[in-house]
Amino acid sequence: MTKRIFRSICLAAGAVFLASLILIMGMLYSYFSRVQRTQLRTQTALAACGVENLGADYFDGLDLPSNRVTWISPDGTVLYDSQADARDMENHLQREEIQQALSTGWGESQRWSVTLLERSLYAAKRLEDGSVLRFSTSQNSVLTLLLGMSQPIVIVCFLALILSIVLAMRLSRRIVAPLNELDLDDPAENECYEELTPLLRRIRGQQKELQLQADRLRQKQNELTAVTGSMREGMVLLNKSGMILSINPAACALLDTDRRCVGRDLLTVNRNLELQAVLSKALDGTAAERTIPLHDRRFQVDASPVVSGGEVSGAVLLLIDVTEKEQAETMRREFTANVSHELRTPLTSISGCGELLKSGLVKPEDVASFGENIYSEAQRMVRLVDDIISLSHLDEGAEDLKRERVDLYAIAQTAVQSLAGRAEAAGVTLELTGRPTPMEGIPQLLGEIAANLCDNAIKYNRPGGWVRVSVESGKDAVRLTVADSGIGIPQEHQAHIFERFYRGDKSRSKAVSGTGLGLSIVKHAVQIHGGKIDLSSAPGRGTAIAVSFPIEQAKNRTFG
Ligand code: ADP
Repeated sequence: MTKRIFRSICLAAGAVFLASLILIMGMLYSYFSRVQRTQLRTQTALAACGVENLGADYFDGLDLPSNRVTWISPDGTVLYDSQADARDMENHLQREEIQQALSTGWGESQRWSVTLLERSLYAAKRLEDGSVLRFSTSQNSVLTLLLGMSQPIVIVCFLALILSIVLAMRLSRRIVAPLNELDLDDPAENECYEELTPLLRRIRGQQKELQLQADRLRQKQNELTAVTGSMREGMVLLNKSGMILSINPAACALLDTDRRCVGRDLLTVNRNLELQAVLSKALDGTAAERTIPLHDRRFQVDASPVVSGGEVSGAVLLLIDVTEKEQAETMRREFTANVSHELRTPLTSISGCGELLKSGLVKPEDVASFGENIYSEAQRMVRLVDDIISLSHLDEGAEDLKRERVDLYAIAQTAVQSLAGRAEAAGVTLELTGRPTPMEGIPQLLGEIAANLCDNAIKYNRPGGWVRVSVESGKDAVRLTVADSGIGIPQEHQAHIFERFYRGDKSRSKAVSGTGLGLSIVKHAVQIHGGKIDLSSAPGRGTAIAVSFPIEQAKNRTFG
């Protein structure tokens, strides 16, 4: 801007200077022309007096270096000329000034030279004898005048130029200085040029508007950060070239990075090829989904394109932990397959027996044994279905069952009493030790736990063996332990016996009736109570399974 003002001032000064120069030159030229003409007239009048008095003698010894004198007879013949031989000169009758002088007494004219650099001024006066005396002088043209004065003009021009530049520089700086000192952070406080007030007011208005928008954006950003920060799912927002714009803490943890990755390409942050594949699909405008392994877990990656104005401007990645979901699905599939398999065996047996009975091929004395077989298989199916119902009930959280104050000892006692007959039949002694032990729990589930553990202890025992059930109250937990002197569980089976449909020793399992669901039910029921299971077993030496329940609610209370 300073440069522009400087240039404008220089240009204006130059133009004014040039105009002034032309005007002054013109005025000077016209003034000097007027003076020259007056002088010429005066000289002509004086010389006319001389010639009238002295005649041709007046011209003797006359020396006029700058003027020319010509004396012309009334018929136009040149009688005398100060610069040329009068005899060689042509008739002057037709000259303009001579014509005027002959008719009015005075004549004046001017004529340009061939080069137009000079002009001649003529003044003529008629004498008393009718002849005419003419004075002429030459006058320079303006151009000649300019050329003649070129040296002083150049000096003046040079000085004017220097002066203009210095002044223009100082002036332009002084004009621009207040603009440079404007405080745009607080436009209303500036006392600058009056003409700038509307502009400063507008800037102030726009600043307020921007401030408002920035506050709104910040608020939105904070809301978004708060929402995405508390999400368990990972969320990454990327621009169309795959650069991370926003990432929440869950995604940072999953992709092994931190918030400093914002502004970097996702490819440089995490090299998972499947992640890149879904992202590039989304950036091509198609939503994509894929399940990928991350940190020993399975994550479903949902990549959706962000479309604005009909064009893909970025993508959003959502990482959802689906490990449990997948496991549950696998379990459900396996469960269905196992249920079908387990039901098929007794059904085949029942159907076989039924078919034989129907065809009358069974001897009358064998009918009872066939009936017994059908009954026991049907019982097995009933047990299986009961266990499945219990398990699915537990899977759903058993929310319809109410927690209440219960006595774990009384529950164990009920289980022991109901299994006493079976223990006796198996030749196993069944004992219960302990004392009333209060706790908060679901009586039905605690009953199932005790019954299943005791049932197993009797089933997987040997004739003459024992089963000891004890209920104790510790500092932090109450504990139910079922120990037996049975066959024990080999080490390799111990990790699996709580799985659904898992049955330990296959050859032995066939002989002992069971569904493979008993311990799964125990595990689930204990989990619902927030308790834990401890197993200690050795083949041939027996098994002890202890379940403990935390008793913080029961603390400081007496059972009554
Ligand atoms: P089942 O209906 O077969 O008894 P469970 O889930 O109750 O099913 O038990 C799973 C497996 O664990 C059994 O098949 C058995 O091999 C083993 N098991 C459970 N309790 C005992 C125990 N007290 N002694 C030895 N093995 C046991």
